[in-house]
Amino acid sequence: MRFSQFPLTTLKEVPADAEIVSHKLMLRAGLIRRLASGLFTWMPLGLRVLRKVEAVVREEMDRAGALELLMPAVQPAELWQESGRWDRYGPLLLRMHDRHERAFCFGPTHEEVVTDIARRELKSYKQLPVNYYQIQTKFRDEIRPRFGIMRAREFIMKDAYSFDIDRDGMRESYDRMHAAYTAIFERLGLRFRVVDADSGEIGGSRSQEFHVLADSGEDAIAYCDEDGYASNVETAATSRPDVERRAPVGELEKFPTPGVKTIADLCGLLDITPDRTIKTLIVEGSDAPVALVLRGDHELNAVKAQKLDGVASPLTMADDAAIRGAIGAGAGSLGPVGMPLRTYFDHATAALSDFTCGANEDGFHYKGVNFGRDIDEPETVDLRNVVAGDPTPGGRGRLGIARGIEVGHIFQLGAKYSEAMGATVQDESGRNRLMEMGCYGIGVTRIVGAAIEQNHDDKGIIWPQPLTPFDVVLVPINMHRSEAVREAAEALYVEMTEMGLDVLFDDRDARPGVKFADAELIGVPHRLVVSERGLGNGELEYRHRRDEDSRMMKRDDALTLVRETSIG
Ligand code: ATP
Ligand code: MG
Repeated sequence: MRFSQFPLTTLKEVPADAEIVSHKLMLRAGLIRRLASGLFTWMPLGLRVLRKVEAVVREEMDRAGALELLMPAVQPAELWQESGRWDRYGPLLLRMHDRHERAFCFGPTHEEVVTDIARRELKSYKQLPVNYYQIQTKFRDEIRPRFGIMRAREFIMKDAYSFDIDRDGMRESYDRMHAAYTAIFERLGLRFRVVDADSGEIGGSRSQEFHVLADSGEDAIAYCDEDGYASNVETAATSRPDVERRAPVGELEKFPTPGVKTIADLCGLLDITPDRTIKTLIVEGSDAPVALVLRGDHELNAVKAQKLDGVASPLTMADDAAIRGAIGAGAGSLGPVGMPLRTYFDHATAALSDFTCGANEDGFHYKGVNFGRDIDEPETVDLRNVVAGDPTPGGRGRLGIARGIEVGHIFQLGAKYSEAMGATVQDESGRNRLMEMGCYGIGVTRIVGAAIEQNHDDKGIIWPQPLTPFDVVLVPINMHRSEAVREAAEALYVEMTEMGLDVLFDDRDARPGVKFADAELIGVPHRLVVSERGLGNGELEYRHRRDEDSRMMKRDDALTLVRETSIG
């Protein structure tokens, strides 16, 4: 590619709405352009990277025996009514009507459509297992699109769906996808971790996520290298602490706390730490609001809480009026002593004695509160997020917390969709049997952002070789004045292209500094500089994007180096 024919606008300034480095660099390097909230155009440079991701994903899916198809993005409401998700999926689903007032949605995922295909196409156990996949545009009306293409509204997903005659078959299909995903992320040169996960709206039994590790990741991952445990914090379990509770030392005492609204306010007033306090959160319930009680320094885990009996799902905090109506006090003064609502205590609260909490009366708190004396001994549940240092569920080690970007998610669905939609095949004895399904998603567009989060410096992107839009950038110095440089550069361009390399030939009439800065920003791994001085010695100046300095190399040695490290 000749740079002069590639209308690439790189930006020096960091765009104001970009919060994280990959979003900034993708805009600055001209990989993407924003159309509207959560909607992006993949510019020619960005599309080259995206196609490379797709190619690796497609190769590994094909290698694993999956069959590519392409389903419509727009889906009729009837299918979603059959599965029961038309009502349940909520505002994430973009709904629309055609000219006949028939309801449709733009697919956020394709379980319904693929199950419809399977029930029509697959008749006998002899046809199984089957794994259909596609690489396709999805739409989710995200409440908070951000981080550019990482949390977009329109994005490209590779989604696959397996059909088996029984559970064992389903597990084998799942394991095959686990292996294929591992191969994909290894080939893409990304540092990643596989973690246990919540199945969310998709449903089913087992599920695991693939996370690219990055400090900017939206997800927290709990792991323990000693016992191999790894889970999304959403689902990492805590248990009741195995410690003897200290006997009470103080009396229960109600005291005025004017203006205290938060745990931080309370700790400031009393000069105590938050782990000596209890906080009480009121959430909407199926009939009445429900109280959730946690240690003051712990965070409520919404995924766990919304699964509790009587708690509304998705978890919704009760509003001020509902809280006041039920308890007679505002959110800043609540506590479990005399709580009139159904109350769940987190496991960790059971270890507390002589703690402080709200008195269910505006402007008052209790201190010296004790279980078994001031409140009944609590039955505890798992309500909170794990924190670093918590014991692993197996009890053999301590948890660490890392941040990750979810790039893949695999699920064992079982018969959830085949049952709702009547997808059966005949088994060996001629009886109809529900197919056992799995589903497997990869965020193809998100991978590009995740790769940049892991591979950049203050000058720009540093593409892992398998993703780079160009293998090598060829920078002639003073080509517009030196015939020798022009001839040598043109010859190199032809020769490297014939070798099968993707060459970006910077034939623009621009200063070398501008060319170097652009090449660094867009992250091309190899740079070759052609100058009159070097040509005199039969040499080129070579620099890898990760090198500190450039070095002079014999022309052929430089070409060999570039070729051998670019073409796998
Ligand atoms: P998240 O928890 O990030 O919202 P999800 O669990 O809802 O994602 P899945 O239904 O598991 O997403 O979809 C499969 C994959 O699609 C995800 O692992 C992720 O890589 C990608 N993906 C999901 N939502 C988005 C989005 N809004 N923008 C870009 N990629 C996305
Ligand atoms: Mg997911």
